[in-house]
Amino acid sequence: MREIAILGATGSIGTQALDVIARHAGDFRVTALTAHSNANELFAFVRRFRPRFAGLVREAPIPEDLRFCEWFFGEDANEHVLRAAKPHDALCAVVGIAGLPAVMAALEVCGRVLLANKEALVTGGALVMEEAARRGVPILPVDSEHSAIFQCLQGGQEPRRLILTASGGALRTWSREAIQRATVQDVLRHPTWRMGGKITVDCATMMNKGLEVIEAHYLFGMPEEAISVLVHPQSVVHSLVEFVDGSLLAQLGVADMRVPISYALGYPRRMESGAAPLDLLSCGPLTFEAPDEERFPCLRLAREALRAGPYAMIAMNGANEAAVAAFLENRISFGAIANIVEQILDSTPPERISCVEDVYRMDKGARSRANVKIGRME
Ligand code: NDP
Ligand code: MG
Repeated sequence: MREIAILGATGSIGTQALDVIARHAGDFRVTALTAHSNANELFAFVRRFRPRFAGLVREAPIPEDLRFCEWFFGEDANEHVLRAAKPHDALCAVVGIAGLPAVMAALEVCGRVLLANKEALVTGGALVMEEAARRGVPILPVDSEHSAIFQCLQGGQEPRRLILTASGGALRTWSREAIQRATVQDVLRHPTWRMGGKITVDCATMMNKGLEVIEAHYLFGMPEEAISVLVHPQSVVHSLVEFVDGSLLAQLGVADMRVPISYALGYPRRMESGAAPLDLLSCGPLTFEAPDEERFPCLRLAREALRAGPYAMIAMNGANEAAVAAFLENRISFGAIANIVEQILDSTPPERISCVEDVYRMDKGARSRANVKIGRME
């Protein structure tokens, strides 16, 4: 019986993880659940899974029947919950840099970290990987591309190149001009995956793939130039690994996050996930194309940030989080997201990042400069 905490339990990843766990009630015990402000949904999960600890960033009155559980509130609710519960596993599925402290706390008190929260690696990658190595805590990828690569690397051989596939997002076939004016509704209509709002916008700008190049760099220790990206609109091949002999290994499956989630939950064992098997006869032709960095500059910006170093990745991520939030509130155009990220990245002077406090300071600075630009655009 593995004890597990789900941070960001009410989100797209959190709810799918609970769906997988419910299929294996005898193997897992949910000891902690957290969310940001969606209290009613969290209450329903607490009622059903009966964890000993729960957390909400935004405090809410706790119903009488849920007082069996110890509650934590506020910005550091995730860390408090983890330190109290000390579960074997923590699934980190908070969105954004807000999840970085939880990942650091999970490395401190848990046996394994199941990582969906890619922004934690983008902003604190070196610190997170160092801490994981120092404590001997494995980080198991939940992101589908990284899970695919992790699965392809189980043979233990060193890869020569990693190839991340990308759906191309909702605007893949749009002209440069049309992309600039895409609406929130256009962008949230993702062709293959159902996910939270922030990552769906990141898919449309292709920033998501840029964040994933950085994530792959840290998880697998590969240099930026050995990580390629291919647009694959069908989302059937979830990523590939190339070896020195020219062989490619790929992982294929339906676009259902319960597959990578269950792989991380059960690792090294495979378990039933609830996903349908892939039918190769009906999934249609599989196509691949080069990403277009003219129409989707964010992928290039993320590569530049990775080459420049941690300060640049933090600034880029902070500007992107601020710009995506403003776009989702209809305060700026879609085209403005990439412009803001580029301007913040270009105007951030190099700085040494040696602790988590440095990360937050750099993030805060980039975010407030991005918000000034956003304010001028309104
Ligand atoms: P969602 O927006 O659907 O969910 C985010 C979750 O995090 C919600 O439960 C939200 O609570 C909670 N949350 C937000 N801030 C905090 C905080 N400070 N403390 C505690 N909980 C918080 O996001 P996704 O599930 O789509 O994505 C989560 C992460 O996983 C992201 O980093 C994303 O990039 C990554 N990912 C997601 C994939 C997907 O298919 N969705 C695929 C690959 C990676 P509330 O509901 O109360 O707001
Ligand atoms: Mg992904």
